[in-house]
Amino acid sequence: MADTKYIFVTGGVTSSLGKGIIAASLAKLLQARGYKTTIQKLDPYINVDPGTLNPYEHGECYVTDDGAETDLDLGHYERFLNVNTSQANNVTTGRIYQSVIEKERKGEFLGKTVQVVPHITNEIKERIQLLGKNGEYDIVITEIGGTVGDIESLPYIEAVRQLMWELGDNNGIVIHLTLVPYLSAAGELKTKPTQHSVKTLMESGIKADILVCRTEHELSDDLREKLALFCNVKREAVIQSIDASTIYDVPNMMLHEGLDTVVLKKLALAEKAAPDLMRWNQFLDRHKNPKDEVHIGLVGKYVELQDSYKSILEAFIHAGAENEVKVNVEYIHSEHITQHVLKNKIAKLDGVLVAPGFGERGIEGKIEAIQYVRENNIPFLGICLGMQMAVIEFARNVLNIKDANSTEMNPNTPNPVIDLMEEQKDITHMGGTMRLGAWDCNVQANSLVAKVYGANKISERHRHRYEFNDKFKGQIEAAGLKATGLNPETGLVEIVELPSHPWFVGVQYHPEYKSTVANPHPLFVAFVKSALQYKKNK
Ligand code: GLN
Repeated sequence: MADTKYIFVTGGVTSSLGKGIIAASLAKLLQARGYKTTIQKLDPYINVDPGTLNPYEHGECYVTDDGAETDLDLGHYERFLNVNTSQANNVTTGRIYQSVIEKERKGEFLGKTVQVVPHITNEIKERIQLLGKNGEYDIVITEIGGTVGDIESLPYIEAVRQLMWELGDNNGIVIHLTLVPYLSAAGELKTKPTQHSVKTLMESGIKADILVCRTEHELSDDLREKLALFCNVKREAVIQSIDASTIYDVPNMMLHEGLDTVVLKKLALAEKAAPDLMRWNQFLDRHKNPKDEVHIGLVGKYVELQDSYKSILEAFIHAGAENEVKVNVEYIHSEHITQHVLKNKIAKLDGVLVAPGFGERGIEGKIEAIQYVRENNIPFLGICLGMQMAVIEFARNVLNIKDANSTEMNPNTPNPVIDLMEEQKDITHMGGTMRLGAWDCNVQANSLVAKVYGANKISERHRHRYEFNDKFKGQIEAAGLKATGLNPETGLVEIVELPSHPWFVGVQYHPEYKSTVANPHPLFVAFVKSALQYKKNK
């Protein structure tokens, strides 16, 4: 077997304990010690990918360079590690079964009964080992979605059990993340749920090597002893993960608890040098000690659930730190935009971002918000649907094409300023059929975006079906909304900007997916900067 070492992260007691953040933080520490590390997320649901899921289900759908529609945890991995992930980093039960069934139809198992064990578990094992195959990584961390004991997780747990056996000593370890709840009536932290969860894991033949305990209060030495004794782990392998004020504190907290050193010891890897977290800590310092603040409105229809706009919120954190300002994001529901909201809320903001989205709900509100910020010189960034709405707003209110629309909202509109590309017109399947992943874009010299990027050739990630309709380009540009970014192959408009406005940019792609701690996205950095400028000039 290859030299790659494997770390499996399972969760117990309850969901939402932050396995993704723990996995990303551990990966950060191992990477900062000089180990090439990647993370993979296995999701036990039957959708082939989260592309067909409403953001209310599992939050935002994250998109990678290779066009995979993935779980939002991959966003955390990229933001923490500053390395690209791909389709191989996110596998669902749907994808596993799809692939096994395809093999069955091709006759690959001819004569055999196809079963969960060994066929599904073998497929899972293959997917886990895919990342470790060509020696690209020293360590692969695999996060198993769901909670131990769930019916859906069983094949994954069995695959991990078999792999642990096959890998042998020091080549694979299991980290179990649990909750140590505080009972205020008793004034005590309770270990029993953790003990039971470790026991459930044992029933499947897996012994946890390390416990990471989520808690609201410090774990005492006695309690750590007790957890170690009853869960059968070393005392140093009981790691406390106390609530943090920001997820970006977690790597330092795990370092302090010694998670990385226990992991390296168990994997028989050298500690090498202490982790180099200089760049990370510089970012944290700026993030925590802002010199000023701005208020930016986020106009969207999923504002009730923060996870829906995860990457956008994180990109603002990176850009805020870069500018040494605190970015206060104010959620504005696009279905509730009234004159009152425009005059009393939006008017007071230092910038407005109109969010991506699908479908008709809330679009008129987005258009009204854009008209307001355009006419009042408030900095504006429109992403994907937000850019499309900026084009519609401009066509309606500046070019006076009152019925301008997107064919997504009105298939029969006489003035489809946003329309489907020819290739998209015959597509009937919804899953994985949008324009996805990284596409090149040529940026016009001397445009605002060329200055922002400091480049005239960029590559950004896409996830949409509809496009700026070229037939209207001449008219729209003549009236002042310039197409300053074009796809070099197709000529499709990727960026629009309004030179008569201090900062008005719409992008057909999703810059938020590429913002990381080490590389804050230039568009977000410039947008926050313009908001600060606007505030100072007020
Ligand atoms: N609904 C639009 C489209 O499909 C925009 C998608 C998005 O904002 N991600 O083109």
